[in-house]
Amino acid sequence: MNSPDTPLKNKKILVSGASAAGPSLAYWLDRYGFDVTVVERHPTVRPGGYAIDVRGSAILISRKMGILEDLQEADTKLEDIRFFDDNDEIAAAMDRNFGAGGGIAGDVEVLRDDLAKILYDKIKDKVRFKFGNSITKLTENADGIDVEFENGDNEHYDLVIGADGTHSNVRHLVFGEESQFAHFWDRYISVFTIPNYRGLYRKWDWHMRPGFFGGIQQYGDNQETRGIFLMTGEFRKFDSRNIPEQKALVRELMSDKLAWEIPRLLDEMDKATDFYFDSASQIKMPTWSKGRVSLVGDAAAGPTAFTGQGTSAAIVMSYVLAGELAEARGDYETAFKRYEEIARPFAELNQDIIWQGKEMQIPSTWEEVNEQLAAIDMMRADSGPVEEGSLVDIMQTAANSLDPKDYSRFYA
Ligand SMILES: Cc1cc2nc3c(=O)[nH]c(=O)nc-3n(C[C@H](O)[C@H](O)[C@H](O)COP(=O)(O)OP(=O)(O)OC[C@H]3O[C@@H](n4cnc5c(N)ncnc54)[C@H](O)[C@@H]3O)c2cc1C
Repeated sequence: MNSPDTPLKNKKILVSGASAAGPSLAYWLDRYGFDVTVVERHPTVRPGGYAIDVRGSAILISRKMGILEDLQEADTKLEDIRFFDDNDEIAAAMDRNFGAGGGIAGDVEVLRDDLAKILYDKIKDKVRFKFGNSITKLTENADGIDVEFENGDNEHYDLVIGADGTHSNVRHLVFGEESQFAHFWDRYISVFTIPNYRGLYRKWDWHMRPGFFGGIQQYGDNQETRGIFLMTGEFRKFDSRNIPEQKALVRELMSDKLAWEIPRLLDEMDKATDFYFDSASQIKMPTWSKGRVSLVGDAAAGPTAFTGQGTSAAIVMSYVLAGELAEARGDYETAFKRYEEIARPFAELNQDIIWQGKEMQIPSTWEEVNEQLAAIDMMRADSGPVEEGSLVDIMQTAANSLDPKDYSRFYA
């Protein structure tokens, strides 16, 4: 085993992406004495998204990072979730802490952009950020990687890590076409900020019908109200930078679902400036690293929003990757191998949630809608201990399946 006194090599690291995985990784790399630059395509930390959960092993790691209190403060403090029928009558309801008898109480739920901002604030004075830029070419040679950027800059790094999401640019440049790794799951997600026209307070008003699950989420004082659509649909290629094209695609996917608040939400979507849209594709790769390049978070093993585990997995994978690089004192071949041995079983177990938890899936028939509403109505904080095999049990088991190693002796 390496001693912390062994000098670090391959210290100069470029990370692509500044959402959850990128800044988490940058935090840990900096903590161990690496020299880190983060490049983010968006001109700022990108806004948008709905509430994401930090749970299980990711909670332990957030505490080690000193961000757990910030996350708890930013918690959405959601009060309850109500499901409305076409006539705007409540058809089912559940508490935020459903299954709290050992269930998912204790998780932290924050807006995705709040998490990205908390992580950014933690490292912005320690790590270099290049916003509004992107890698266009990576050329590996014996002593590192030559990197060309969209703005014409050319720089040299020892290692490059792709933390740039499901449609990773680094993965595309180094491993090739996304279609080799993306397993489309016939569904789409869209999220956008709307006015609080229903006068909600810390509530989610949802609607479910064949091919649709979604509605309105309100996050409390001075906080956002967001519309969210989870929709089924066949595979379609779309340009990840073309927002008008994506909004038109959402309208098309929703054209036979114009009930409840959906027409109004579509109008609000057209006005939204933080519109987010993506297909649900799980990323499965035979290996996450090649030469001096590795991938982390959704870029390596995106589980999709439908597992509720993308962010926690990104935090955990980043912790392991940085820790193994520190322990191997920058010997990337050893570190990348160990990273994958440790983090892959965790990432895959969290991806597998997608096949389970029927309550949270998009129903395809009215019969399934009614079955799911009945199951949801049973999910109460006082509904007793967690049942083996239930959605809460499956999620908790996957979320806690990695016991974070202690790398603190390598702190710089
Ligand atoms: C705007 C947005 C909204 C989201 N909303 C939700 C949601 O509502 N629910 C949910 O479950 N998940 C959502 N996600 C995905 C969720 O954040 C991830 O599943 C999870 O947090 C893992 O994070 P990640 O850092 O690996 O990937 P991501 O969060 O996808 O982050 C990737 C980052 O890389 C940046 N990037 C992309 N291409 C390049 C490039 N060429 N060069 C440099 N940077 C690049 C992106 O702008 C982004 O900041 C959203 C992601 C984004 C970016």
